[in-house]
Amino acid sequence: MKTLLLDFSQSELEGEFSTLGIERYRAEQVYKWISAGTDFDEMSNLPKSLRTLLAEKYDSVGAKIVKDAVSRDGTVKFLYELRDGKLIEGVLMKYKYGYTLCASTQVGCRMGCAFCASGRDGLERNLTSGEILSEVVCANAYLAKRENARIGNVVLMGSGEPLDNYDNVTAFLDLLTPSQGIGQRGVSLSTCGITPNIRRLADDGYSVTLCLSLHATTDEQRKKVMPTANAYKIEDIISAAEYYFGKSGRRVIVEYAMMRGVNISDSDAVRLRNLTKNFPCHINLIPLNDTDSSLSGVNKSEARAFLSKLTSLGASATIRRSLGEDIEGACGQLKRRYTKK
Ligand code: SAH
Repeated sequence: MKTLLLDFSQSELEGEFSTLGIERYRAEQVYKWISAGTDFDEMSNLPKSLRTLLAEKYDSVGAKIVKDAVSRDGTVKFLYELRDGKLIEGVLMKYKYGYTLCASTQVGCRMGCAFCASGRDGLERNLTSGEILSEVVCANAYLAKRENARIGNVVLMGSGEPLDNYDNVTAFLDLLTPSQGIGQRGVSLSTCGITPNIRRLADDGYSVTLCLSLHATTDEQRKKVMPTANAYKIEDIISAAEYYFGKSGRRVIVEYAMMRGVNISDSDAVRLRNLTKNFPCHINLIPLNDTDSSLSGVNKSEARAFLSKLTSLGASATIRRSLGEDIEGACGQLKRRYTKK
């Protein structure tokens, strides 16, 4: 496969070009083009000979949108095809404060959470930094064609476990600001709790919003729905989250998918409050999306009862609003349907 230009930072691109005898200022020009998702033949300020040379040696963008499903509420679900034909999903959500893109970090996932469709077939491969960046580039190009808007926030909550692909994900974070003008304050990273890498992220000085997929209040309960619970104890995950807050100063988000008969009793509310009360964090209660698992979500009144129990204990908590329900909202669904066809 050809080298992917979006895997490079601008200064790395200068280095790459200098080995080919291409002038330094060309790297700056090309970097702007690839950050906008432009094909080589449309890079109008480059001589034709250079465009041809680049096209022979490189790919500019590492993904293309092969399907877009638009919801009544404005949410767009993308199916991206990578250069090796693998498929990943992304979701573009419109909020009052702007557009947020939910991006994937791996093809598939090896975490095996019982409720999640993205990991059904295990991990196929990691995405490179440039491929993750390509998701943002393509979505921004998609937006630019339709309206004068850009993505303001990125949430790493698509397929994959970001902290199981640490080097590429952090390289992506380093590229995101210079390439797309999105700073770390605009990024949320969701993890099932790989504690050593939560600490590493803090030590490496990152300050994205950390979202912890907790989903249970005891290790026993958690092991039933999340195999990673066999490797990392809740107590250790929470202490890593506290450490992350200490270093980054960023409030942590605890994600909690409510599952009937599993994790929504009054004692769960008490334990959840106690686990999260020693550092600034907010609990995001998630209505479980139906997948082909045997787990069932909750109805509105069960969700509200759990929420009010939590808030009465002093927790900061909200129920996550569901977007795009008419367009295969749950992770992995669009890909599964597309592949079956
Ligand atoms: N691997 C990362 C990020 C990907 S999933 C993580 O585990 O956090 C993003 C969020 O969606 C996680 O909180 C995940 O647990 C949740 N999720 C997965 N499947 C779901 C479903 N069917 N319904 C509701 N939330 C789900």
